[in-house]
Amino acid sequence: MWRKRNLRRILRGLRFRLTAGYFLFFIVLLGGVAALFQARLTKILDDQADNSVNQQWAAMKGYLRIEKNPQTQNTEAFWYYDDEDPDESRIVLNIQRIYFVAGSNGKLIHEGKTGDDAISTEYEDLGVDPPALIRKEVQTAMATSPPQPLYTIRRNKQGAQFLIRSGIVFDEQHHNPYYVAVGTPLSQYENISREFALIYAGVVPLALLLGGLLGWFMAGRALEPVLEVAQAAQRISGSNLSLRIPTRQAGDELDYLILTFNRMIERLEASFQQMKQFSADVSHELRTPITAIRGQLEVALFTAKSDEQYRDAIVDALQDIDRLSQIVRALLLLSQAESGQLTLQKSRLDLGDVVRDLVEQFQIPAEAEKVRLKAVVNGECPADVDRVQIERMITNLLSNAIKFTPEGGEVRVILRSYPDLAEIIVEDTGSGIAKEYLPHIFDRFYRVPGQGSAPGPDQGLGLGLSFVAWIVKAHHGTIEVDSTLGRGTRFTVRIPVEVGQPATGELTAEPILKEM
Ligand code: ADP
Repeated sequence: MWRKRNLRRILRGLRFRLTAGYFLFFIVLLGGVAALFQARLTKILDDQADNSVNQQWAAMKGYLRIEKNPQTQNTEAFWYYDDEDPDESRIVLNIQRIYFVAGSNGKLIHEGKTGDDAISTEYEDLGVDPPALIRKEVQTAMATSPPQPLYTIRRNKQGAQFLIRSGIVFDEQHHNPYYVAVGTPLSQYENISREFALIYAGVVPLALLLGGLLGWFMAGRALEPVLEVAQAAQRISGSNLSLRIPTRQAGDELDYLILTFNRMIERLEASFQQMKQFSADVSHELRTPITAIRGQLEVALFTAKSDEQYRDAIVDALQDIDRLSQIVRALLLLSQAESGQLTLQKSRLDLGDVVRDLVEQFQIPAEAEKVRLKAVVNGECPADVDRVQIERMITNLLSNAIKFTPEGGEVRVILRSYPDLAEIIVEDTGSGIAKEYLPHIFDRFYRVPGQGSAPGPDQGLGLGLSFVAWIVKAHHGTIEVDSTLGRGTRFTVRIPVEVGQPATGELTAEPILKEM
């Protein structure tokens, strides 16, 4: 069972598959090379055999005469050569090994000097050509000019192959055609071919085996670091997300993978941390009003004497419940935005109208705070945006500005239109934000300490700017904040007026923080 599972794991492993691929490639390559070599070799050997038989034929024409025997008065085959000359003798003997001469009637003629049939014993072994066939061959050969030779491959009784060239030769008087065949054994060529095949058959499996082993070894070495990475990755869990896989300083693809992996873990760690922080913040934020409600109700229960006192306790408790539901609503909206469920509903509208309307709506609360509120809008500013979200963004910035500006101060909303972007500036002459707090103001639940820090109904939730940042990001825009303690704050939002596709954003807008 264990072995079976292990085997299956190996078979499915990258190492095995790489080696198998390598092995297959070798088989195809070596097979292809072998086929190519074999084809080439066969062609060369065939040409050589053809050459050899043609040489035999040419030599035969030089030494063989078919003429009348003065003694027998029959036309017979004579070999004319100098038998003292070893070269000539060797050549003629070689022709005489495989030869055959017949008349055009298909019958064998005699050999002039010996009086035997003009056929060698080795040729007899191949089988004498039937007279009918010879007659037909002679006719065919005579019909073409010059007479065409015929090549055939024949086997003797032992199975050895011979290449035979047969054709027409005329007698001395040039009257009658005779059928002559000469041949050459093919065994030497067959041997070369067989030897090559044998060597190949021995060498190829060895090469394959060596190649396979080498492939297995190399794949193993190449994959070793991958396994190390996997093992290191396995050690990383939710509780030790700070672990990183060390790079091998090789600058290769694997190092790149490790770097990418480490960056992914970094991002995971950051969002894990954010999540932890968020749930801690949420429980803290929810606990405060719940404790307050509980306190008020307990006090009422144990100490209240009159209806009036009960009524006060209930009113206080209701205010805290309002705050609770406000927090829950804001959280719900934020989590929808974060998870991408909140998509923008864009339409073309004039941002100038939006700014003017909102500033008008805020005149009453501003007057209540004795703060001057102005809109500075130059002409029209058409843009493709989500009206609800843009209004929410300006409302948040505006209410913060009014809230943090003391009596007699001024808040201005400035709208500037550029060819492809709109700039919305909300500035105040309020308390300003100290440099060290600036980087946190877009964090959830963050409130700058010392600005009426006691939690109460008037205090913000610390969620407004988080939401502003999301809205800006979802519109592919940027947000910038300049602030000087005691002098005022300016938020500058820049939004492209025409954004192609509807988008959702995350709460990771990176605001630019400056001191005025
Ligand atoms: P809140 O609901 O508390 O206003 P925000 O996320 O909108 O939460 O703002 C976060 C904090 O940033 C505020 O608590 C406040 O301390 C600071 N802040 C925001 N806007 C201004 C401003 N215009 N002037 C001074 N401080 C500001």
